[in-house]
Parts: sequence; C-alpha cells; structure tokens
Amino acid sequence: MTQTDDVETAVTRYDAIIIGAGFSGMYMLHKLRDELGMTVRLFERGDGVGGTWYWNRYPGARCDVPSMFYSYSFDDDLEQEWQWTERYAAQPEILRYAEHVADRFDLTKNIEFGRLVTAADFDDASATWTITTDEGTKESARYLIAASGPLSAAQVPRFEGLDDFAGDWYHTGDWPEEQVDFTGKRVGIIGTGSSGVQSIPVIAETAEHVIVFQRTATFSVPAQNYSLTAEERDAIKKDYKAIRASGRVGSGSGTPMPAPKAFANELSPAELQHELDAKWEWGGPAFLRAFKDTMTDRKANRLTADYVRAKIREIVKDPDTAELLMPPDYPIGAKRLPADTGYFETFNRDNVRLVSVRGTPIERITTNGIVVGDEEYKLDAIVFATGYDAVTGALNNIRIRNSAGELLKDKWMNGPRAYLGVMSAGFPNLFMVVGPSSPSITTNVLVSIEQHVEWISEYIAFLREHGIETTEADLTAEDEWVEHVSELADGTLFPEADSWYMGANIPGKPRVFLAYVAGVGTYKERCDAVAAAGYTGFIHDGEPAHSLEDVVFSE
Ligand code: NAP
Repeated sequence: MTQTDDVETAVTRYDAIIIGAGFSGMYMLHKLRDELGMTVRLFERGDGVGGTWYWNRYPGARCDVPSMFYSYSFDDDLEQEWQWTERYAAQPEILRYAEHVADRFDLTKNIEFGRLVTAADFDDASATWTITTDEGTKESARYLIAASGPLSAAQVPRFEGLDDFAGDWYHTGDWPEEQVDFTGKRVGIIGTGSSGVQSIPVIAETAEHVIVFQRTATFSVPAQNYSLTAEERDAIKKDYKAIRASGRVGSGSGTPMPAPKAFANELSPAELQHELDAKWEWGGPAFLRAFKDTMTDRKANRLTADYVRAKIREIVKDPDTAELLMPPDYPIGAKRLPADTGYFETFNRDNVRLVSVRGTPIERITTNGIVVGDEEYKLDAIVFATGYDAVTGALNNIRIRNSAGELLKDKWMNGPRAYLGVMSAGFPNLFMVVGPSSPSITTNVLVSIEQHVEWISEYIAFLREHGIETTEADLTAEDEWVEHVSELADGTLFPEADSWYMGANIPGKPRVFLAYVAGVGTYKERCDAVAAAGYTGFIHDGEPAHSLEDVVFSE
C-alpha cells in the first residue's frame, strides 16, 4: 500500500525505496514491483536510466566484457530479441539497451529522475527508512536498497587553480550529454586507467594536439573488438543459458572464456609463449587466464607482465616514449587490466605527447593549462580520466544514519564492513547491491548484479511471508565474513598494487581490498547456503535467524 502521512513534511511510504537506476536498480525495481507486488520508488540523480552508462559518454567508452554476456539473462524474450552489433558494445548501444529494458518492463513510471538522495535515516520504532533528496523532500519505506554503483562517485583531484582554467574541463565519468568537439583543440588528458586508455586514441583522432599526463604507466591488452555477425549471435542464443552458466561455475568471473590449461611452471618456454600469444589474440581480460596461477604466483604473473612490456616495445616506435610507457613492477591484473583499441599505437602519432608526472607531479592548473615542473602545457581543454572513489564512495556520499544516530560512514572509517556484501550490522533493512566484499568489481558485474538482486528479493519475500519487520547482519557473522574476504585476497597478488580495488587511489582512504575474489559461483553457493539454513548470520526482529554455527566460511 502507498500512503501519504499527514505530517509536517509530506512523507510517502513505500514498501521499498531504491537508489540508482543503473542495471542493479532497474532489475531490483522489476523484481520487487512485478514479482513481489511491492510498492517501490526509485530515485536517480541522472535524467535517464543506465547508471554508469548514462554518465560515461566519453569518446571511446565501451564495455570490456563481451556484450552477449554483459547483458541481463533473467528474461528469455529480452535476451533473444536484443541484437548486439559488436563484441564489445560502445556506450551509446549499451545505453540504448538500458532504455529498451526500461521501456519493455515499464520501469520509468516508478522512477524519479534528477533526484539525488542526500540522506537516509532509519527509525527503529516504525522500522522504516526515510530518505531526503537534494530538493529537501522526504519519503519513507520499509526497505532501502542501495543500487548506487561501485564506480559512480567520480574523483577529480583537487589541483590548485582548476577554477581559474579558461578552457573547458571534463571527467570521463560525468561527461556532458551534448557532443564535445575537440577538433582543432589542444587537449590534456590526466589518467591512464581504463577510461584514459579508451578515450586517448579516439580524442587523438580529432584534437589538434593531445598531451597525456601519466602518473603510473599501465598494462593494457587489445580488446580485439569486431562486429558480430547474425550467425555468431544466433549460435550463442541457441544455447544461451548453458553458455552463460559455464561462466558462472566455481571461481569464474561470470563471463564464458577459455579456461587456463596449466600452471605456468608446468609449461615449456614454447608452451608459455603459445598460451600468451593465444590469449593476446583472444583479447580483453581473458589475457589474465593464460595460466592458472597468473593472479596468485609472482613468477607466472611476471611472465605475463613481461610479455606485455615486450609488446609495448614492439608497438611504440620512439624508444624513450616506449620506456615511459613501461608499467612499473606491480603485478599485472592487480590494477584492473584495461582492454584497448590502438592505445599504445596512439603514441606513434605526431599530435600525441606523453608527459610522465610520476616523479614530478602536476603542480597546478593555470588559466592556460597545466604546470609540471618548469613547464606550462598550454591547453584548450582538460579531460580528467582520474577514476572513482570506488565501491564505498557513492554510499558514503549519502548521510546514512541508524536509529542510534550512528553513521554508516563512521562505522566504515577503517574500511567497509558488510556481511556477504549485502548488509552492514547496525543498519537494518538496508540492502546493498554489489556492495563491498561481494564479488562485483572483479567479475562480469551484470552476473553479480543478477545474483544479488535475485538473492535479496528472495530474502525480502521470505521476510514478508514470515511477518518479520527488521533484519540486520549479525556483527559476529559480519566480522567472520570480512576476515574471510580479506584472507582470500591475501592469497592473491591483488593487495600488492596501489589500486582502486584497495582504495589506494583516494588520499586518506583505508587500504582494504574491496571485493570477494573466490568467484561468482563459489559466492552464490555461500549465499544460497545461508538462505537454505534460514538466513543464518542475520538477526530477525532482534533474534538470531539461526545458529551461526551452521555457516562455515573457511575452505
Ligand atoms: P582508474 O583506473 O582509477 O585510473 C585513474 C587514472 O588517473 C590512473 O592512471 C591514475 O594514476 C590517474 N590519476 C589519478 N589521480 C591522479 C593525479 N592526481 N595525478 C595524475 N594522475 C592521476 O580510473 P578509470 O580509468 O576511470 O577506471 C576505473 C574503473 O572503471 C576501471 O578499472 C574499470 O573497472 C571501470 N571502467 C571500465 C571500462 C571498460 O572497459 N568497460 C572503461 C572505463 C572504466 P595512478 O595509477 O598512478 O593512480
């Protein structure tokens, strides 16, 4: 039932409020409204659906997971009717897909666009969350679902003088809707992560001059993108369910791809070379699966990294530029590996210059450009491809407060804590989709989103069926989960790099590995076991849902 309380500020009560109309929020809305018959309102700060694909309109933006699998699987007709045109679709096509889904399931009638949620307060007595928007309006609901995205809080470094810059500046993750024309302009691009790697080659095609300001040289592998033929699409669609399922088993990322055949030390030099060549030709993130131990063994990893270093030397003609592009000695893949189209080749262009800001950081921005050391680089536009306050940023930007007046942000001061990555102890009825310590960011996120949305909505159905008003994570279960997640990460090379996975890209952010790395299949088994045992590790209306001894996290 939807009702309007006759109080000072009109408060509309829904069964659930969802924050964010990306792929998580859209599917959650469909599930709760159309399958559970709940009253739901979704708040979205943008003026359209699509989440990250709404904001990331920068030149060259495209996914790095094959589109046939970077798409919903929950509806047979939807997956059969949509025709992806490329192996890795570009942003406009992915956004069209999101809009198609919104139309098909009539989602927009329950979405308030252009509304930023700024605060959320839980009231124990009524067991409701009340959210406040940037317009000062308040609405309340029994459940609050944060579908605000792991990579949505754009990070613009606070360079002195940015406000004085006479040209235009952009962040890749907050790109304007209208086309940006760089023709004839001198463009400075800061950042060489996935967004920089994708945008630099495309911007260089039109700009008069591009200056790339690189702090840490990146590994990158060719995406090997191509147009999909009807035959290729049909072959997958004929067997869609089984092919998708093959990517979800065990330690999988959720994307079907050739499995590694052996550990690196089991292979001869010729076989090593052959495996790396094959994965380079295959393209994209599969490159990290040349060996079974690429992400766990330093030697296997170094072989993989050195292969890319040799490719850079081969592709980039100027030896000094090639040396500057050489990634330092962090494990390949420990920072998210970009998939590119002509990235290293772009540095052979006459209109592209690489400036290392590793030893000599950007000092300040002036009216005319960027100052590094003694030199002022004159620019008409600056592109910040400087990333995100990942995973926790969007949540921490909302002042989330429980009945005792405690803030989620304060609880997470030393790193985020969430049981199964879906709920944080002390914050009842607040579910997070692809939250911290879930697999999300290290997987095909569409697969993780579907699993989370389905698990959470089944849980909500259970709570409603059993007349349970509040659920919250048990602190002990949460502690055990966080420890388990951290132990898993420590068994890999991920913690060895200063990456956004570790929170290392944000000054002052605690260094905590933000994801569960044992794969989407294993994670799903854990979540399903918790559900099957009666939602162990949660507290229902103040009582433990079940004995915690029923859940064993260690392998
Ligand atoms: P990112 O990977 O965090 O890269 C940010 C870049 O900006 C890094 O090169 C970083 O240097 C540099 N940087 C940050 N602050 C700087 C400063 N003060 N001075 C100079 N350089 C600075 O961000 P992103 O490229 O936006 O990618 C984030 C994630 O989004 C990706 O890892 C991926 O998961 C996702 N994404 C995916 C795709 C796709 O292919 N589907 C495309 C774009 C993004 P350091 O390395 O030294 O920190």
